[in-house]
Amino acid sequence: MKETGLENAERVLTDLAKGRGIHLLEAPTPVPGLRVNIYFVERPVPTLIDAPMKDVLSLAELNEQLQPLGHSLNDIEVIIVTHPHIDHFGSAADIAEMSGAQVWATEDTARWLENYDSECLEEERFQRAFLDRAGVPADLIAGLGQYFQFLKEFACPVRVSRRLGVGEVIELDSGRFRLEHVPGHTPWCVMMVDDSKKIAFTGDFLLKDISSNPLVQRPWNLPDGYRSIEAYASSLRRAAGMGLALALPGHGEVMRDPRERISTLLGFMNARTKQVMDILGTRPDMTIYEIVEGIFPELPRDEIFLAVSEVFAHLDLLEGKGVVLRKSESVPSRYTLRR
Ligand SMILES: [Zn+2]
Repeated sequence: MKETGLENAERVLTDLAKGRGIHLLEAPTPVPGLRVNIYFVERPVPTLIDAPMKDVLSLAELNEQLQPLGHSLNDIEVIIVTHPHIDHFGSAADIAEMSGAQVWATEDTARWLENYDSECLEEERFQRAFLDRAGVPADLIAGLGQYFQFLKEFACPVRVSRRLGVGEVIELDSGRFRLEHVPGHTPWCVMMVDDSKKIAFTGDFLLKDISSNPLVQRPWNLPDGYRSIEAYASSLRRAAGMGLALALPGHGEVMRDPRERISTLLGFMNARTKQVMDILGTRPDMTIYEIVEGIFPELPRDEIFLAVSEVFAHLDLLEGKGVVLRKSESVPSRYTLRR
């Protein structure tokens, strides 16, 4: 049998988390090539960190992986959700119905999980207006409808039984995991850190193979929004200072030296900021979409929001530093380099 990321991850876990009762499960998603890591901890009660998308195949595979551990989805008592994206909570309601499990999440994540349908509706409106301001052609914006259809198909709302507070400590097996707020990929991401054993569940905040997009987020209780790149870089620097020996991410391989990955990500962010400045410097002014076309000439249609989000995040950072000026409030917004 060829070695998969999962087997590699399991081996690292057996090495480093031996006796700590953490098991890595891996579920497919309806998105080709995208798999999601779900962690299972048996004690003090059978607990899952995150739940895959609402999909029969995903749940069947998860159940199959629980069997050799002497468990099944019917035994799960707690599901802890790291952030409100469907590949991390979509099936939580189904699992809770099967097993009676409680769902635990922070207040911000709970707001999404409990009001998922209306949050999606608001989000779709927000994203359409955002892409319009970015100068994205109307036919590309129209494609959002399909994306939100997908979001509704593979997740459903779920009641959150326990609101977790940042700084709160959750006991899992012999570990004591502190909840750390790590905004950047979303404003609400959290990671769970065992400070004495230097192990952390990092959700999508820190991944080995993918650089998580700093997504633009509809302002909610943040009147001015938040500068996602700044937030992300500061979360990453804080995580680097924790001296973690093992990071357990929401996708892909586990990381034995998260600091190395963190410095790669920070370097990548700086390079991207510079690239945005260089492209902007070639013309008197540009829309976000024109910059996106310069950076990602072969961009697939369904990744437009991610790409526009990313470029916006860097422009937002540069605007904050006084390097870039947004020329007017007209639609689409045009940006220029201050000379
Ligand atoms: Zn994810």
